[in-house]
Amino acid sequence: MNLQLYNKYSVALKQKYGEKIYKIPINLPISCPNRDGTCGIGGCVFCGEEGAGFENLPNQYSVSEQIVKNISYIGKRYGAKKFIAYFQNFTNTYMPLDKFKQYMEAALQPSIVELAISTRPDCIHENYLNILKNIADETGIQISIELGLQTANYHTLAKINRGHGLAEFLDAVLRIQKYGFDICTHLILNLPWDNEVDVIENAKILSALSISQVKLHALYVLENTLLGQWYQKEEFSMISVEDYIERVICFLEYLDPNIIVQRLIGRAPKEGTLFVNWDTSWWKIHNQIEEKMRLEGRYQGRLFNYVNGSSVQKFIQ
Ligand code: SF4
Repeated sequence: MNLQLYNKYSVALKQKYGEKIYKIPINLPISCPNRDGTCGIGGCVFCGEEGAGFENLPNQYSVSEQIVKNISYIGKRYGAKKFIAYFQNFTNTYMPLDKFKQYMEAALQPSIVELAISTRPDCIHENYLNILKNIADETGIQISIELGLQTANYHTLAKINRGHGLAEFLDAVLRIQKYGFDICTHLILNLPWDNEVDVIENAKILSALSISQVKLHALYVLENTLLGQWYQKEEFSMISVEDYIERVICFLEYLDPNIIVQRLIGRAPKEGTLFVNWDTSWWKIHNQIEEKMRLEGRYQGRLFNYVNGSSVQKFIQ
């Protein structure tokens, strides 16, 4: 891993595409089956009105308008020439098939090298994957699917009203892998109902499944959400930032070193939040994680020794 503490996304992207690549967020006027009553009402307990992407352009702009506007800003600011069209907000495979095809095709502009589609495990169906496969075959564009899991602990998934369990995630991963697309999994490592054993199991499950990428977040609490109400009534407590840092490192130690790590902690807006990243900037926590790993000689994959018949390894040369 070239003395990297962990398998960094920025390095992996540069190796893959030969230059710096930036993500262009695209915001579609869509919803989520966990908000409209299809599999749940009200959404995940932490979900705000805007879904996940607080830095997006308004969804009244078309896909191509959003791409052009974002490229002219990000491209100029960072001198970037190639981009990933990132369908970030809500559930980007939750729509009729023809609409999905239209949106994906609208993102096929010359400087776009990859489509990244964020969705839920219960919204992966082969008909949608076939559309992506045809696009990839015809254009050579790369496809990656971002799956929100948050935790492999299905008791916690029920508590946070995810509207799916672990089995739906396993089904989605096995289906997507048949198409050869990259999979990025989102996890929240400080869910108050999870402990360090759950964090380790998260790492083991992603590793056993040979997931391509992972994105870690710390839980943040928005006003006007069920989680916000629980927080104000002190129905749960947050772990400390030191414990979060330890959980991230522990997770990385158990994680297959080949899995690319997109992020160690998420960014979140301050407005409308009751709790976000311990009132510390995300990059300070990010730096503290790296510093602690360096000081303690810890690195991604240090404890990745539990697959391929770990108990019979001693009989094998
Ligand atoms: S899956 Fe995403 S968009 Fe849907 S309710 Fe949960 S957090 Fe919100």
